[in-house]
Amino acid sequence: MRNAVKYTWEFDSGVRFTGWSACSPNSSGIRISVADTADPPHVKALGSDLNGMAKGMVLNLTFANWSPGCATNPQYCIETIAVHESGHALGFAHEQNRPDRPSTCTQSAQGASGDWLVTPWDANPVMNGCNPTWNNGGVLSRYDVSGVQSVYGVPWDSLGGGFTSAPAVASRGVNRLDVFGRGLDNQLYHREWDGTGWIGWTPHAGIITSDPAAVSWGPDRVDVFVLGADGSMMHWARVGTAWTTWESLGGGFTASPAVASRGMYQLDVFGRGRDNALWMKSWNGATWTDWKWLGGELTSAPEAKRWGAGRIDVVYRAPDNSFRRSVFNNGW
Ligand SMILES: [Zn+2]
Repeated sequence: MRNAVKYTWEFDSGVRFTGWSACSPNSSGIRISVADTADPPHVKALGSDLNGMAKGMVLNLTFANWSPGCATNPQYCIETIAVHESGHALGFAHEQNRPDRPSTCTQSAQGASGDWLVTPWDANPVMNGCNPTWNNGGVLSRYDVSGVQSVYGVPWDSLGGGFTSAPAVASRGVNRLDVFGRGLDNQLYHREWDGTGWIGWTPHAGIITSDPAAVSWGPDRVDVFVLGADGSMMHWARVGTAWTTWESLGGGFTASPAVASRGMYQLDVFGRGRDNALWMKSWNGATWTDWKWLGGELTSAPEAKRWGAGRIDVVYRAPDNSFRRSVFNNGW
């Protein structure tokens, strides 16, 4: 039963069934009773109406009295029923209860009908008595997946760690990710997806004082920018399989940096200076320019995005709380 919900509802959405253990008389949550009687497996209510209800979900594991054909392959029936009944526990009613069911579905409504229609009519959900495949074989349909995601969110993986900043993410190639964050100890931490597994978190020694900004301008190349303890811009880069040491780019900044790349071997780094103006420093593959003053009065960190060769749009918040944009297109 646990695997049945793990590889269906949990695999495709943010919902998690937890606290699997024997019930006490005061237990809350879904309370499952196992009984081999002539009554079909069922729930006594939908969703949170089941909370703490004794014998709220009744399952059959041996099938001597109900659907005895299941006794020859009980695993299939147990898992398929578990997916269906746990769907009720998530709040989903039978599809044939819908007011918009087509005339081809002649099953009568059964059980509570729920409060709203989450998806269009679905001929093949695990909750449809009109599905020619019983409980859809315990396999979620496309609308089952979008429905459970509408209510419980999409699936999220934990990447672990502990952070005091927003994340930064860059991809240095197909099926590659590098994730960065400022740790609880104010060091920069890095975790990478190498195509098959995660490596890290790995700290890069030194105190940082901003969110990281990261970009990739070519295969196996990632550039990361943060503010150091003194507010100067610090640069760290992945070159192939190796990482550089910290490079100080100087300056003095009061908000997290932004970075974009106009193309191969090119980097443009932006920061809010102590004068609240926007400053920019550029790499051409061989050398860095000096910090260039671009004016403006920033009340936020800048954001910078490239959408074509030689083109970068920069956006920031101004003192009147409006956003302002400037365009670099091989020149301002
Ligand atoms: Zn049902």
